[in-house]
Amino acid sequence: MVSERIAAAARRSGRLPQEVRLIAVSKTKTLQDIRSLADLGVNDFGENQIQEALGKIAQFRETALDWHFIGHLQSNKCKFIPGNFSWVHSIDNEKLVRRIAQAAREADASVNLLLQVNVSADPAKHGVPSADLFPLVEHVLEQTSGRTRLRGLMTIGYRGAGVDEKRRSFAALRQLLEQCRQRFVDSMTELSMGMSGDFELAIEEGATMVRVGTALFGPR
Ligand SMILES: *Cc1c(COP(=O)(O)O)cnc(C)c1O
Repeated sequence: MVSERIAAAARRSGRLPQEVRLIAVSKTKTLQDIRSLADLGVNDFGENQIQEALGKIAQFRETALDWHFIGHLQSNKCKFIPGNFSWVHSIDNEKLVRRIAQAAREADASVNLLLQVNVSADPAKHGVPSADLFPLVEHVLEQTSGRTRLRGLMTIGYRGAGVDEKRRSFAALRQLLEQCRQRFVDSMTELSMGMSGDFELAIEEGATMVRVGTALFGPR
């Protein structure tokens, strides 16, 4: 059971199981798949395609689930975020923040933002390079207002990496978050890291949100 594995990893690292939020990554999965997990008490769902997600979100309006956008976001899709997603994990440039902040004001809806960092400097991945993170945080803090809040950082573990290398990149993201908190704002508290293959490792290195698809729903 994923929830038991999360709880065990949290305890191993001296934390409480409820300090780690499980985000069920439901991309390509059906409404029934989502309903089954929601009935078990899962409240947070992650999607990476706007069109696919909007269709699903519309079907769950009365269930009050929290939806997380975790995929690459195009700036012309930012207008769909407020009112549909309460979290965006994949912010890696200023333009996205400007557009989401404007849409959030217009829709009078709140959005929590995480900055995606490419800690492993993998050229195949999106995300801001670690070296460019602090300037981006500064810009984001200038753009955000009452309706949009910068809450933390996200990374995707390098696919081909071994355990040690993954652990190092998760630890590097945690250190970046600590530096952001010291330099900028205390309200950056979230670390979104860990997927089906590495969520226990990520929790041991401080993850507060894990994004798990396959281990919950089976293969896509
Ligand atoms: C698909 C996806 C996940 C979940 O991956 P699994 O290996 O199925 O757990 C997590 N994060 C992101 C950004 C994804 O696109």
